[in-house]
Amino acid sequence: MKKIVVGIDLGTTHSLVAYRREDGHVEVIPDRDGRVLLPSVVALSKDGVRVGWSARERINDPETTVIYAAKRLMGRSFEETENDRSHVSYPVVDWNGSPAIPDPSRNRALTPPEVGALILKELRTRAEEALGQSVSDAVVTVPAYFNDGQRQATKDAGTLAGLNVLRIINEPTAAALAYGLGSGKDGLFAVFDLGGGTFDFSLLDIRKGIFEVRATNGDTHLGGEDFDRAITEEWFRISPKLASLAKRPEVRDLLRKEAERAKIALSSKTKVEVALPAAGFRSTLTRDRLNELVAPFVERTLACVRNALSDSGSTTGDVDGVILVGGSTRFPRFKEAVGTFFGKPLFDTVDPDLVVAEGAAVQADILSGRRKDLLLLDVTPLSLGIETIGGVTSTLIPRNTTVPAQAKELFTTYVDGQTNVDIHVLQGEREMAKDNRSLARFTLAGIPPLPAGTPRIEVTFQIDANGILEVTAREQTTGKTSNVVIHPSYGLGKEDVRDLLKEAFAHVQEDFATRLLADARTEAQTVLNATLRALGRVKEDILPETDRTAILHQVDLMKAAMEGTDGRKVRDETQALDKLTQPLAERLMNQSISNALAGMALPKEDDTNA
Ligand code: AMP
Repeated sequence: MKKIVVGIDLGTTHSLVAYRREDGHVEVIPDRDGRVLLPSVVALSKDGVRVGWSARERINDPETTVIYAAKRLMGRSFEETENDRSHVSYPVVDWNGSPAIPDPSRNRALTPPEVGALILKELRTRAEEALGQSVSDAVVTVPAYFNDGQRQATKDAGTLAGLNVLRIINEPTAAALAYGLGSGKDGLFAVFDLGGGTFDFSLLDIRKGIFEVRATNGDTHLGGEDFDRAITEEWFRISPKLASLAKRPEVRDLLRKEAERAKIALSSKTKVEVALPAAGFRSTLTRDRLNELVAPFVERTLACVRNALSDSGSTTGDVDGVILVGGSTRFPRFKEAVGTFFGKPLFDTVDPDLVVAEGAAVQADILSGRRKDLLLLDVTPLSLGIETIGGVTSTLIPRNTTVPAQAKELFTTYVDGQTNVDIHVLQGEREMAKDNRSLARFTLAGIPPLPAGTPRIEVTFQIDANGILEVTAREQTTGKTSNVVIHPSYGLGKEDVRDLLKEAFAHVQEDFATRLLADARTEAQTVLNATLRALGRVKEDILPETDRTAILHQVDLMKAAMEGTDGRKVRDETQALDKLTQPLAERLMNQSISNALAGMALPKEDDTNA
């Protein structure tokens, strides 16, 4: 049986699990009662821990701690969560600098990853029951603005739930995948995600299968619940009696549910009757009135959209389509407002509550190992870099970098008039190029002949989501470019990665010494060349013989050190020579100035660093 990798949307209010069937159809897995959403709620009480619907039912039970919206606390320090803590009704304590929720019955506190783990475990069990096989691999989505710490905490939650999180992907990326974007359809897409309590907007640039988030904006406290509140407040204005009754939590809760019901009904009707006979309340809510009530919220979302566009230097004209995510985008007024604002097609045919989970399942299926020739990983298993002077490795993308990734660095020439550079692409953790895996070699030709150190050669490493690496070298004045495309993981299994890391670890000390020596020799050679060039040019009368002898003596000492294997000694002798030649550099400068004043031409080469 093919091993199934599931896609999980771990949401603030709801979570879902999905997978791609053999027939290619993506299915969101329901629970035994046929419900696909799982409230992201955990209840702690004397009689045990509950997750999901049964946890949510306990919301007004004074004996139970009901944890909701724990995603807002995920991977953040206690201090950072101050604002979010003030929005929840359960206690949050400082647990070694992290937020944690006390579980009085068990005399301990749960960290946000532990809460996340309980939700993930519930989804995992649901998937295992539905599929009749064990499920251990998953792709989990996170908001695009999540930083490394928040992503790591989400991964930790997965590990605690017994899941191997193959990849963490951005929610807007998942939404785009659910619409089949990225396979042939490139462009700039806006993802408008309005849920129950949060609004996230992202601009997603999709090019050749690489999804790059160009800008994010949003409001972590704006969503459908605000509309429900606006409705109840309207009712309180109509009926002060209702307002006073609503001081009781269970009445407030009931009213909120009634408001939500009315709001949802107004997506398909133009008016609804609301009757609460027990409170002697009866009223009619029209869609037009609801549109007026939510107008300020519509404006707030559009303000975020404008900010994101301006941050990324784009306009609505650059956007090729708008993807709608989150239950509140069903609201006709929002669809209308977003459609008018962008004047672009709306992607709204996939259920906005399921679209992220479905996209995660698409990614999960890609990762399920159909392509056996590639080691598919969410991070680079080994560092990637190039060989530089002295045979040392210069790392551009360190190991464990999340893919896709890009890195750029400037290099130069080491020989005067050099017109070609050889780029040697390496993989591994060793300091010396010869000890690493050689992935490719290519040449950048046509560099203008200039003094050593003058040309600026930009080397770019770009690694896509499937781990394919493109290395480009570009000489900046001429724009001459050369590149190579490599599969760094080709022929590299998990065992090999482990062996290579072990080897690097075993050699760490000697590698350090070798690298020190190589770098010191390179530096020494540069200083030596400059010194000999300066000595040849400086006039006898401005450099006393004793100084010249002292410099030459130090040159000999340095050369001897360069023959040896002690990097520190080479470095010390180089520094000594550098110090001795400083007055020489000043004299040369003076000499150049007086030559110029005497009407003679300045020497062609720049002598200031001699
Ligand atoms: P989510 O967090 O994405 O599950 O979104 C849930 C929010 O969407 C809740 O506030 C719901 O009240 C809201 N919602 C669901 N359906 C509709 C609808 N037809 N019209 C307006 N809001 C809706």
